[in-house]
Amino acid sequence: MKKKLRVGILGATGAVGQKFIQLLAHHPWFEIVELAASERSAGKKYGEAVQWFAPTPIPKAVTDLTIKPCVPKLNCDFVFSGLDAAVAGEIESAFAEAGYPVISNSRNHRFDPDVPLLIPEVNPDHLELIQYQRYKSGFIVTNPNCAALGLLMALKPIHDRWGLEKVSVVTFQAVSGAGYPGVASLDILDNVIPFIGGEEQKVETESLKILGKLVNGEVQLASIVFSAQCNRVPVVDGHLECVSVQLKEAATETDIVNGWQTFTAESQHLQLPSAPQQPIYYFDHEKYPQPKLHRDLENGMAVSTGRLRKCPVLDYKFVVLSHNTIRGAAGCAILNAELLVQKGYLKERTI
Ligand code: NAP
Repeated sequence: MKKKLRVGILGATGAVGQKFIQLLAHHPWFEIVELAASERSAGKKYGEAVQWFAPTPIPKAVTDLTIKPCVPKLNCDFVFSGLDAAVAGEIESAFAEAGYPVISNSRNHRFDPDVPLLIPEVNPDHLELIQYQRYKSGFIVTNPNCAALGLLMALKPIHDRWGLEKVSVVTFQAVSGAGYPGVASLDILDNVIPFIGGEEQKVETESLKILGKLVNGEVQLASIVFSAQCNRVPVVDGHLECVSVQLKEAATETDIVNGWQTFTAESQHLQLPSAPQQPIYYFDHEKYPQPKLHRDLENGMAVSTGRLRKCPVLDYKFVVLSHNTIRGAAGCAILNAELLVQKGYLKERTI
């Protein structure tokens, strides 16, 4: 691209907002020009308002930007949203109404029938839904819940080739998934909390939309039975998931591993800047993958799998790991935006 697109970030002070800022600091196509957050932060310089908790310093280009309120008067080509779900729905709609493309992390619009719930490697064809949206020149594209993301990347090559009947998943989810300050340290240290509000339903329902087929401008939900059990564990970043699957057609272990190791999609063929070269890794080592060792593979954009073996209840069981705030949140949204650029949906806004 000759000229970078100008980006605004809604919810710039939050956990996901900070990840956007980190990941976009040296982006070849996008440049951060506007930051917005709540009235508590609006009017302050970003460096003063934010409680920055990344191990790298706040990028110089944003430290002195003045935070604006989340109203659609930002001077940019499109916005990323890392807004609190309590307010994201209305604010994102207002931006889309006003002509801004909105690339969102929040759950609010994920089930709007005309909004793509997108993982570039899994359902890029769902972008077609944008043309049915009610907004004039703006639109909304969302990415899934962070626990659904790793799971669906690992399931995609299996479902495409052998078909899925049933999926049972037990998650071990990092504390960063709860935002900042998140779970109280006295609750999570030396502990596992067997409940994350709304999470199991999100994993079960979002999976059906993402693996669904687009027919005549509508997503027909996949007919797979999903069951999720979600737990919060004292890990900083990286969601680990234990998955069991029942297949429609018989597959061998070698075939499944080969399916993961050779899996690529349009994002890789288009060489999108944030696309991992190898989206899914398989580890033979019986103790892998692990959050501490493997969450940062390919800048946190690759998904790791391991421990594939026969399941006495369903057909096969295995382990999946993905970085929840990168691949499961800001990184996926950035990859979504890159695909939107290549498909001609994102360009300079002239209003
Ligand atoms: P967070 O740390 O609590 O940040 C929330 C952001 O929303 C802050 O910038 C906050 O601004 C802003 N905000 C709050 N109330 C507002 C209002 N009334 N008007 C305008 N802005 C307001 O949350 P997070 O963890 O980054 O999550 C953000 C969204 O992404 C959520 O919807 C979450 O479900 C989703 N998500 C999170 C993850 C993850 O791993 N953390 C993964 C996937 C999706 P102030 O600082 O000014 O209050």
